[in-house]
Amino acid sequence: MSQTVVSLYLVPTPIGNLRDITLRAIDTLQSVDVILAEDTRTSGILLKHLQISKNLQSYHSFNEHKAVEKLVGRMKKGETFALISDAGTPAISDPGFLLVRAVLAAGLEVQCLPGATAFVPALVSSGLPNDRFVFEGFLPHKKGRKTRIDALVDESRTLIFYESPHRLLKTLEQLAEAFGADRQGAVARELSKLHEEIARGTLVELIDYYQVNPLKGEIVLVVAGCAEQRESRAEKQEKKQAEWKKEKKPRKEID
Ligand code: SAM
Repeated sequence: MSQTVVSLYLVPTPIGNLRDITLRAIDTLQSVDVILAEDTRTSGILLKHLQISKNLQSYHSFNEHKAVEKLVGRMKKGETFALISDAGTPAISDPGFLLVRAVLAAGLEVQCLPGATAFVPALVSSGLPNDRFVFEGFLPHKKGRKTRIDALVDESRTLIFYESPHRLLKTLEQLAEAFGADRQGAVARELSKLHEEIARGTLVELIDYYQVNPLKGEIVLVVAGCAEQRESRAEKQEKKQAEWKKEKKPRKEID
């Protein structure tokens, strides 16, 4: 492990089950001078549960721009910080990127601890190919939504979206319209919580299912990539390999 002094740690916190916090996350939260939290009330509950009493400071998307400069100034003077979000890994569909970029630009060290995040268990348990995937986060609610969906029509990698329960049906319908109703998908709901559920099927099957079953809690939507594109990529690769083998032969003979 690096011996450099770390000014900013990004510390993942549980996405549901409070036991999904690492020993290193606890050590780190105990060792820093200040914990930056997206919502000090939510994080206060977790820290109380972990019996960590620390200087807690608010850091969220509304004060992010303003806070960054001051925080970097304090880091330059030697203060150490841990950034946590309400759930999961900070900076993944959460505030954090601006701070990481500014800290690195100031020549200071950043370390992100491995840990809980919603999209990895959703992707892995979806049963869809996970060797290559695209994390799309939240789709825009209005402006730019259709453009973003249209840009993904030929995407061959598995797609991952964060979605709210009241928008899921609309999203499934829009994706079915753009990608075809028979495209495979999976909805991972309430991961690591009491009512965890993974529904798998075609987009139209998922629509039918959620039209009758209650849609509550937190959701990750995973959608298969475009199979035609995948095939043509594989075909292209096969062709290239055949060409390469052909080219290789005469060279061997020269050797
Ligand atoms: N930073 C978090 C991470 O690392 O996954 C994501 C934060 S983002 C603001 C919140 C979204 O993550 C939710 O709307 C949902 O799409 C997803 N999410 C968070 N917890 C989840 C859970 N337990 N089950 C399913 N999805 C979850």
